[in-house]
Amino acid sequence: MTNYVLHEAPADAFDHPDECSEPAPGEITSSNPITYNGTPIATEADVIEFEDHGHDTDEDDDCTDFQSHEVNPEVVSGSVSYNSDGLCLELSDVATDPGSGGPIDFTSSGGNSVVTES
Ligand SMILES: [Zn+2]
Repeated sequence: MTNYVLHEAPADAFDHPDECSEPAPGEITSSNPITYNGTPIATEADVIEFEDHGHDTDEDDDCTDFQSHEVNPEVVSGSVSYNSDGLCLELSDVATDPGSGGPIDFTSSGGNSVVTES
């Protein structure tokens, strides 16, 4: 069984310089999350938001190239969807950081232990 990822689940984006935010922390958000028995579940229509973080360093090892990202999860359940948007099920390598090219992982399912796909 795998737990669906909930609204506001934390995520990490990788492949940034060690001197900057590595990994860069974010979370999945939605202005209108779908709910199942009151539990808000993330879908591929929701966005993983990352606040400003550096993607390069200058000669003094100070971070440069600050960007924030809003990324839709691309790897979702193949069998369960809502309005044709797949529910977020996988935790690892669900999207790509558009600044670093590195993978984005959910660090947890956001506390969900109730709604699962077997
Ligand atoms: Zn980034």
